[in-house]
Amino acid sequence: SEPVGVCGQIIPWNFPLYMFSWKIGPALTTGNTVVIKPSELTPLTALHVAGLSKEAGFPDGVLNVLPGFGSNAGAAIAAHMDIDKIAFTGSTAVGKLIQSEAGRSNGKRVTLECGGKSPLVVLDDADLDLAVKYAHEGIFFNTGQCCCASSRVFVQEKIYDAFVQKSAQLAASRKVGDPFSEEIQMGPQIDLKQFKKTLGLIGKGVEEGAKLEAGGEKAADVGYFVKPTVFSNVTDDMTIAKEEIFGPVQSILKFKTFEEAIDRGNNNPYGLASGIFTKDLEKAIQFSQLSQAGSVWVNTYLALTSQLPFGGFKQSGFGRENGEDGLHEYLETKTVAIAISQKHS
Ligand code: ADP
Repeated sequence: SEPVGVCGQIIPWNFPLYMFSWKIGPALTTGNTVVIKPSELTPLTALHVAGLSKEAGFPDGVLNVLPGFGSNAGAAIAAHMDIDKIAFTGSTAVGKLIQSEAGRSNGKRVTLECGGKSPLVVLDDADLDLAVKYAHEGIFFNTGQCCCASSRVFVQEKIYDAFVQKSAQLAASRKVGDPFSEEIQMGPQIDLKQFKKTLGLIGKGVEEGAKLEAGGEKAADVGYFVKPTVFSNVTDDMTIAKEEIFGPVQSILKFKTFEEAIDRGNNNPYGLASGIFTKDLEKAIQFSQLSQAGSVWVNTYLALTSQLPFGGFKQSGFGRENGEDGLHEYLETKTVAIAISQKHS
């Protein structure tokens, strides 16, 4: 194998350092050069790290940071004739655009990591407190601004009421405020647009008949703070069960049978991640086989490490980041067949 060449990388705002390292790590390790565009909302982290890379002795031209807006700086990378591969993390809509631009220009290689609406299934034999805790962190971590958030929690009917009650209590106790303060567990939404979108979708949840169990409104008079919000009685057809909110809104849905939970979990255009809480190993294995998701987490959630490949099924994208798979995305396989001349005696 050999390096693909010049790699264009476009990243979102929700994890400015994490996404930057996920992108440049495998690309540089495999010998490529990088032109990376951070989100217009968070350009400073990438620029700072680029400064550190110079201090660390990276040769000039190996790591290039190109801050700018998506519609010009991002689009220029996608359409560039001298860029050999593009790796994108962001919305499914922009991911599709990038795929088509790549095809229209030089057929550059593409990997996409897009949105999600990930199901977390809790069977009635699960360790209830453990499941409540992981489901809570799964959606409220990073203020819900996480592509693999557990945004649809399916809970089996026997433990449904207890699960909802404990989840609402936990959400109400989550400390919201200045993220630089140590006791704070959740900061604001990134900007006014995300703040309004989250509150708008909470309103839709109420309007469409979900039961508000916690939060449901802004958490302060200044800033884009939203209270950790929990809805019960959510059904599959509701907007909050279909759309990626990217905010601190937990939707808890009820199910009867294991098969039903698998089907309803899969019944979604996305396929980034899923989770199951159960003590039944056979069910955990069956779920892992049948769940249409790039990452399946059993009795845990958000198990993300540099060794574990991460990426989507269906409209959550394609290609993998991290692990050995992540390296192959930046390598071109070359087959060399050499004919050895036959000696005739
Ligand atoms: P989000 O909803 O997470 O902001 P976006 O898909 O809008 O997701 O943005 C993710 C990244 O894609 C950002 O760096 C953004 O600037 C970039 N981007 C947005 N539009 C385009 C585009 N048309 N072409 C290339 N990059 C784009």
